[in-house]
Amino acid sequence: MKLLFIVMDGLGDRPIPELGGQTPLEYAKTPNMDKLASLGMNGLLHVIAPGVTPGSDTAHLALFGVDPYEYYTGRGPFEAAGIGLVVKEGDIAFRTNFATINTEGLIEDRRAGRIKEGTDQLAKLFEGMTIDGIEILLEAGTEHRAALILRGPGLSDQISENDPHVEGKEPLDFKPLDDTPEAEKTARVLTTFVMKARTMLGNAELNKKREEEGLFPANYLLIRGAGKVPKLPNFEEEYCLETACVAGGGLYKGVGRMLGMHIIEDPRMSGGTTTDLVAKFDIAQDALKNYDFVFTHVKGTDNYSHDGKFKEKVEFIERVDKEVSRFLPENYEGDLVVMITGDHSSPCSFKDHSADPVPVLIYSPDCRRDKVEKFGERYAVEGCLGHIIGKYLMGIALNEMRLVHKFGA
Ligand SMILES: [Zn+2]
Repeated sequence: MKLLFIVMDGLGDRPIPELGGQTPLEYAKTPNMDKLASLGMNGLLHVIAPGVTPGSDTAHLALFGVDPYEYYTGRGPFEAAGIGLVVKEGDIAFRTNFATINTEGLIEDRRAGRIKEGTDQLAKLFEGMTIDGIEILLEAGTEHRAALILRGPGLSDQISENDPHVEGKEPLDFKPLDDTPEAEKTARVLTTFVMKARTMLGNAELNKKREEEGLFPANYLLIRGAGKVPKLPNFEEEYCLETACVAGGGLYKGVGRMLGMHIIEDPRMSGGTTTDLVAKFDIAQDALKNYDFVFTHVKGTDNYSHDGKFKEKVEFIERVDKEVSRFLPENYEGDLVVMITGDHSSPCSFKDHSADPVPVLIYSPDCRRDKVEKFGERYAVEGCLGHIIGKYLMGIALNEMRLVHKFGA
């Protein structure tokens, strides 16, 4: 039995007066997901724990059965893995921005004018660099984004950032957050690296050209989100599942890669609200031929939530629903478990994540049934799954796949 796991980022919401007191998911016309809800099991998912607002990273760990309280060490490692750096246990990873600093030493643009091209060449300048016996690995991501890894002995992730988070200020100093020699060494290495990088980037042809063209040069690095790369359970070893990750965002690919999933790369899948949903679900459908477990992530729901755009959120959900049609039992050849949920709620009225639980539906050909007939927050609570904690979801999914995780004789 194979499983398709669809995660709509920030799916959960609150009643919106303009939608007649319904949430975007309740209001949206979703005949296909409603069908699966009526044939399947429904419930409310407290992704981390009741009352805890998840980040997208901790949320996804929990959805994959990995307790974030045990394994999460910061966002840096997941971003780095998502960009494509092969992270190793013990590495210290950071989220990084190419930024613009002016001659007075003030940050002029935190994103170097959202530089589109050439950051991979800039990152190459640092190839083979070591400081104090520590390897420096910098990898460019999309636009101004990059990831940094420090690799070597005697490092710590207890280190502050240099990003002032506002423009017109000086970058901050890296400070050790505890009084260990490891934290102090890490601060020293980062300070030296950023100093060297400023000179090297300032002299780069690309930046001279950008300045001539009146563009913000990418002449500085803002570094944040330190995390020590943890040893995570491996999906394939843990569950004996060949798993594929169908996602556009670096963070989600990073979580997948660190759990040993096969990452399917396709440029049509990135872009959040502008992602090519038809292509994404074509790819997911195709992946089901070769993999037991296909994780498919869509980001648009969360992006619209952060902008408070509930009408657009409704439309995006409806577009996803259209693609779900091909996985209905009458349209899909073969036995398939379909699991649909969000990684957290992002109410449009909050324009941010909230701790509200998210609806979850699980359909399998012979699963239990409940009386729920629609996929939505207020319906899900009546379902037979009741209230469940995120880290137990995988176990429930495996049970539907007939993969037994037995406890006791
Ligand atoms: Zn999220």
